[in-house]
Amino acid sequence: EAKRNRHHVSIYRAGMDRFTPERLALHGELAQAIREDGLALVYQPKVNVHDGKLAGCEALLRWQHPERGMISPVEFIPMAENSELIRPLTAWVIDHALAQVRLWLDAGLNIPVAVNISARNLLDADLVGLVVDSLRRHNVPPALLELEVTESALLEDPETALSRLTRLHGLGIRMAIDDFGTGYSSLAYLKRLPVQVLKIDRTFIAPLVTSQPDALIVQSTIGLAHSFGLQVVAEGVEDGAILDVLRSMGCDLAQGYHIARPQPPAAFEAWSREHRSA
Ligand code: C2E
Ligand code: CA
Ligand code: CA
Ligand code: CA
Repeated sequence: EAKRNRHHVSIYRAGMDRFTPERLALHGELAQAIREDGLALVYQPKVNVHDGKLAGCEALLRWQHPERGMISPVEFIPMAENSELIRPLTAWVIDHALAQVRLWLDAGLNIPVAVNISARNLLDADLVGLVVDSLRRHNVPPALLELEVTESALLEDPETALSRLTRLHGLGIRMAIDDFGTGYSSLAYLKRLPVQVLKIDRTFIAPLVTSQPDALIVQSTIGLAHSFGLQVVAEGVEDGAILDVLRSMGCDLAQGYHIARPQPPAAFEAWSREHRSA
């Protein structure tokens, strides 16, 4: 236990403000939740903008804390990223998402899943092996896995990021840039990366109908992304008017509360059966 604590101190040295007894307790509890399956995944559909059919889903993490109730990933992902916990956490997410895809396959549903990975994961030499191992164990085709990485994760160490993306894509996994538009990378830079999907951040999508500048940004992002052969996903679609504009702009896929909220597996599966293509 003493050894553990010493380790925690070194973890938080970079940001001592985070080194509070409450934070340490939460950190320990998250480690326990990963070990003892105190976490859960919910699934949010992505649909084809043109026919509304299911195109895939995003796995989103939830932590049902025994005393504090539901804790948002916004709350504990940064804490995990500031420690070694992001590794087992991401391993848990990938493994559970692929186990779910296998269950769906066995139930006759072919649903690609997207998993969020952090900058730290991308720089981790173990990531590729971990993904390969999990795909094999669950006997899931690599094409059914997509990894979402934010722009900023790529800029932290561009060379390592590029080599990881290249290896992952080489396995047949699809790579997506998440929250596009919030960082400083240009499409010209992304064009050089083995990335197939661009997710436009919801801060541009929400004001799409009312703000001409945002509409122009989204329209030109879609156009340029398409000219580079990328598939475009709009996130945070909260009403039908936004969906109509996205359709007229030629956006490919949409995700958001207007279509469906993130749901536990059983509810998601029922939704999927009603919205499956063909
Ligand atoms: P994200 O990757 O950008 O995920 C989209 C977030 O937007 C999710 O929040 C989702 O529930 C929410 N969302 C979906 N549709 C709408 C909408 O129409 N309106 C609004 N206002 N929000 C919508 P959530 O699940 O709370 O996740 C927040 C963030 O936490 C994610 O943002 C992602 O950065 C991170 N995260 C979630 N799960 C994981 C995970 O397994 N691993 C890692 N590394 N990060 C995760
Ligand atoms: Ca995401
Ligand atoms: Ca996003
Ligand atoms: Ca986000």
